[in-house]
Amino acid sequence: MIKISTINEAISNNEVQALDSSIYNGHEKILFCKDTSTNLKAIIAVHSTKLGPGLGGCRMWDYKNQNEALNDVLRLSRGMTYKASITGLNLGGGKAVIIGDSKKDKTKKLMESFGEFVESLGGKYITAEDVGMNPADMKDIRTKTSHVVGTPKEMGGSGDPSIVTAYGVYMGIKGSAKFRWGNDNLQNKKVFVQGVGKVGGFLIDYLKKDGCEIIINDIDIEKMSEIASNKNVNIVTENEMFNKSYDIYAPCALGATLNDENIEALKCEIIAGGANNQLEKEGFHDVLLKKKNILYAPDFLINAGGLINVYSELKKWDNEKTLRMTENIYDTTISILKRSEEEDISTHKAALSIAKERLNK
Ligand code: NAD
Repeated sequence: MIKISTINEAISNNEVQALDSSIYNGHEKILFCKDTSTNLKAIIAVHSTKLGPGLGGCRMWDYKNQNEALNDVLRLSRGMTYKASITGLNLGGGKAVIIGDSKKDKTKKLMESFGEFVESLGGKYITAEDVGMNPADMKDIRTKTSHVVGTPKEMGGSGDPSIVTAYGVYMGIKGSAKFRWGNDNLQNKKVFVQGVGKVGGFLIDYLKKDGCEIIINDIDIEKMSEIASNKNVNIVTENEMFNKSYDIYAPCALGATLNDENIEALKCEIIAGGANNQLEKEGFHDVLLKKKNILYAPDFLINAGGLINVYSELKKWDNEKTLRMTENIYDTTISILKRSEEEDISTHKAALSIAKERLNK
């Protein structure tokens, strides 16, 4: 097993060829994990432990190269610090990525090997589910470390956090609607849900109950068709999806969909979804959205339901308390949108400054 524990060692061993200093700046620890016996290649990033241990899911994705994986994990772990802070949880920010196709490359041994690396951090990082991972994987990881949450309910864990994430996103959408339209009734609102995995799938259920008209897209064509027929929603093709008009765009796939090209094309009033790191360039694309008069509900604020759910596993909260905490996202969203208006700053900047205020206290 090869373990590289500092970024400098990683550079000198040519593990990482091109590092953009601005994104790894400020991280407390980055662990490059390689286990030749299980083919594990992973990176664990701990951005901050100021408010508590760095808790954040592990993403398994078929990255094009290691730099793409590094970029992703650093952006994600930093986002977790601000997510925990703005939500008022005593947690820091951390995240992990495993390089590989979760449908083909995932094995029990691979999960166990990842668990050993998590254990080696002695609790500085606590793992959970993200894209490509599920509660059964957490169970396998648990055999090697206790620093894991989101384990199956039958093991006493909090189970899959996605449903609570989706509930929080739904609260964020309603809060945004109230701010924008003076009313949070979503009846007949046209919503584009991009990415119909765990979070997107549950979100559709909440929105349908409120009478929304749902349009979906997913790169997994089979899954998209299945959801469209099971949930009775319409599909929009990848080529067409940003040419149509919507009331609400809910990004629920991977990050960086709020970029030059898509923002130029977008015709909607509100953007509020579950995906992490929706803005390709923070401080630029959020400002561009403000100029276009599109209300952007900051991702790390409204997708915190899953984090609240796994935190409840650590704190032994009951379901009712977890849902009550998640419902607070409605009021927090409105207060951040108000602050952005009063201070004439982007909604992302308003959310970030509130998260930083707590961190700096
Ligand atoms: P998932 O793997 O279940 O679903 C993601 C879906 O997005 C998949 O169906 C995938 O095919 C699709 N997808 C990927 N790239 C796409 C693209 N370019 N266009 C359209 N579809 C695409 O993952 P999930 O758990 O639902 O997470 C979705 C997002 O929400 C991620 O960004 C994740 O980090 C974020 N998030 C998840 C949770 C959670 O509790 N699961 C919590 C907070 C944030």
